[in-house]
Parts: sequence; C-alpha cells; structure tokens
Amino acid sequence: MSDRKLHPETLALHAGWRADPTTGAVAPPIYQTTSYQFESAEHAADLFALRKLGNIYTRLGNPTTDILEQRLTALEGGAAALAVASGQAASAFAIQNLARAGDNIVSSTDLYGGTWNLFANTLRDQGIEVRFVDPEDPQAFARATDERTRAYYAETLPNPKLSVFPIAEVAEIGRKLGVPLIVDNTAAPLLARPLEHGAAIVVYSTTKYIGGHGTSIGGVIIDGGNFDWTAHPERSPTLNTPDPSYHGAVWAEAAKPLGPIAYILRARTVLLRDLGAALSPFNAFQILQGLETLPLRITRHSENAAAVAKALSASPGVTRVIHPSVQTGLQRERADRYLSGGYGGLVGFELAGGREAGRKFIGALKLFYHVANIGDARSLAIHPASTTHSQLSAEEQAATGVSDGYVRLSIGLEHIDDILADLTQALAAAK
Ligand code: PLP
Repeated sequence: MSDRKLHPETLALHAGWRADPTTGAVAPPIYQTTSYQFESAEHAADLFALRKLGNIYTRLGNPTTDILEQRLTALEGGAAALAVASGQAASAFAIQNLARAGDNIVSSTDLYGGTWNLFANTLRDQGIEVRFVDPEDPQAFARATDERTRAYYAETLPNPKLSVFPIAEVAEIGRKLGVPLIVDNTAAPLLARPLEHGAAIVVYSTTKYIGGHGTSIGGVIIDGGNFDWTAHPERSPTLNTPDPSYHGAVWAEAAKPLGPIAYILRARTVLLRDLGAALSPFNAFQILQGLETLPLRITRHSENAAAVAKALSASPGVTRVIHPSVQTGLQRERADRYLSGGYGGLVGFELAGGREAGRKFIGALKLFYHVANIGDARSLAIHPASTTHSQLSAEEQAATGVSDGYVRLSIGLEHIDDILADLTQALAAAK
C-alpha cells in the first residue's frame, strides 16, 4: 500500500493485514493456538528478554489479535494497542497500569454502571481511590488532583446523559500537571478522536459498535504514544521505577528502542501476563469482521438515531429526549466540537408515566430487543434503573443521570420506518 494517509473506510479493511504469506488467504486466519515454536534457544531467550518482539504464548499475544490491535491503532491514530477479554478488563488495566495502592485517579461521574462499580468498589478495595467529579466543570479535575493522582478518566459520550466530555480542556489541565487522560470512546468510535484532542489513552469495549453484531465480548486499550512519561517521572512510578517482576526494567527506558509505547508495553508484559484477561483469537476474528464495516455502520446508526430523537421529541407522553442532535447550549457546542460524521446511535428518553410506563413500554416492543447491550446492528432497549444501574444507590443513579422513567435505546440498522413504527406502537401501549 502507498504511504499516502488512508481514510478510515480503507484502514478498517486493510490496516494490519494483507494476505497469509503461506496460503495466500485474504481473510485473517484464526490462529487458534496457545503457543509458538521457538526457532532456537537464543530466539526464545531474546523473546523473553524483549530483545526481539514475537509470539510466545497466546495469553501474551496472538497473531489474529495482533491484526485487530494494529487495525485499531491505525484507525485511532495511536502508537500501539492491547486487546483484552472485555471492555471492563480494558478499563481496569488502563488504570492499574498507572495507579497502585495508595494512589488515586480523578474520574468523571458520567460513567457506564459497570465502570462505576469497578471504580467505587473494586478499585477502592485494591487501595486505589477514585475521586468523582462533575464533567460540566473541567477545573473540577484540577481541584481534585494531588501528588498521588495518576490519571484522569472519562467517557466521550456517556450514557445515559449523552453529554459529550470536554476532552481537550481536561487533557490540557492534566498535561500541565503530568496527569494523562484516559478516554472510554466506546459509544463514539470514529465519530470522536480523543487522541487528537490531547487524550493519552483510549479504551473501548469492542463488544459494542466495533464488533457491531452482538456476538463477542472484547476490549482494547490504545496508547496514543503522545504522552511524555518521563517529563514528570514522580507522577508515573509504574513506568519510571525499576520493575522487580521484569529484571528491574524501567519501562519508560526499556520501551525506547521500540517506540513511544512504554505504557502499552507494560500493560501487556505485566498486567496481561499476571492477570490473564486475554482475548480469544476467535473473538478477535469476529471483532475484526465487524470492524471492517464500522465506518458504514456508525454513520447509519447516527442517522437513524437522529430520526428517532426527532420523532420522540414530538411524542406526547415523552417529557425529555436525550441525543446530541436535540441538545442545545454548552452540551451541543461540545457535541459539535468533538463529534463529526454523526452524533452516535444512543438515544435516551423519559416517559411521563415513570417506572410503570417504562416497564409497559419495554414489554410492548416487538422489533427492539430488550437486552443489556448497546452497539448491536439490531435495535435494543433497556430500562437502566431496574437493570444496568440497579446496583447503584439512589444518589449514584441520580449522579449518573438515571431516573425512574428513563429508557435507553440503542438504535440499529433496520429501516427507519420500521424502527419508528415499533416505537410508536410501544409508546401507545405505555399510556
Ligand atoms: N464502557 C462502556 C461505555 C460500556 O457501555 C461498557 C458495557 O456496556 C463497558 C465499558 C464494558 O464493556 P464489556 O461489557 O465489553 O466488558
């Protein structure tokens, strides 16, 4: 391929793979193997000592997964990526790679319920404090920072609020203090480009739009390669102090001959090695298959969702509609600054009849699936207060934007007339 910068539509089909050198196979093969024969004793020693990069054992890396990692790196404009078993594993690793017991991170309150639980409970139990701040005010991140702050964390287009995060504003605050911003871009792949706005790390649940067909759980961490971990070495001790688990390697130094990949190298060689949340090669293949059509799909998801938001806004019985296309003021400004090519496929709305109306509405849907997922090619619906966010306290639900009558839709790729017809009949049944 030429060196000319390729467009996302092209990268989604070609980055990281051409054809199998042995068989000529065009589709990426599923390398369903646990281990790889070393060429010699010296070769084996070189691989373990990181003098050479190559395949050792599928918990640490796999050729099918490697194609996915390269393709997502190219699409995101990053330096390198690590695919893992789920979006949850990606979020957990992204933080554990920088923060240890006694450290803290500052996170936006606007999070997926599972991430909220991870932060508020499991990381806390591991000794990592998560300080939640309101993303409306970017300076809140600065105020919550102290000398033990290791990262900032946010979702680009967090559901249920769907108010776009001020990526550049918070990234800039962090860069001055030596604190990297980690952005979960699950709801806005291709639409938002967090690295271009100063984020250092991007994470995805590839389970959603990237895989796109509701078949395979997966996650990825993408290292932007744009953060100087040595500028404030005291801020990132995991990368700047000798690692006893790897012959005393100092990752910021050890990675230098390989490129600006210290962060992701440590995530693979330490966290993936020790915690083992490896993606299966079969899932990597499925996610790659989905990724090939992501540029087409995300555009259609966005168009259909905007049409749904418009129709719901005109429906009696619906008190509030949430989608960037119907937002105004600061929320709309942020959406227009950070999203291009569409506002995403998620739509929220509030039924005047509260919890009971929400229950009836969900029960009456015929085309929409009632599932705890987003980003499937099919249209999906859920009532967060009684499902995805049910483990949160009433205060936590309110902080994340979930109320009793709130319904979340993930608008699929069906014909828009069929989507609207199903919504219309379910709204009538919910009255
Ligand atoms: N991040 C976001 C924004 C999500 O919506 C989800 C799942 O719904 C996750 C992370 C977790 O991903 P997974 O279910 O693949 O572990």
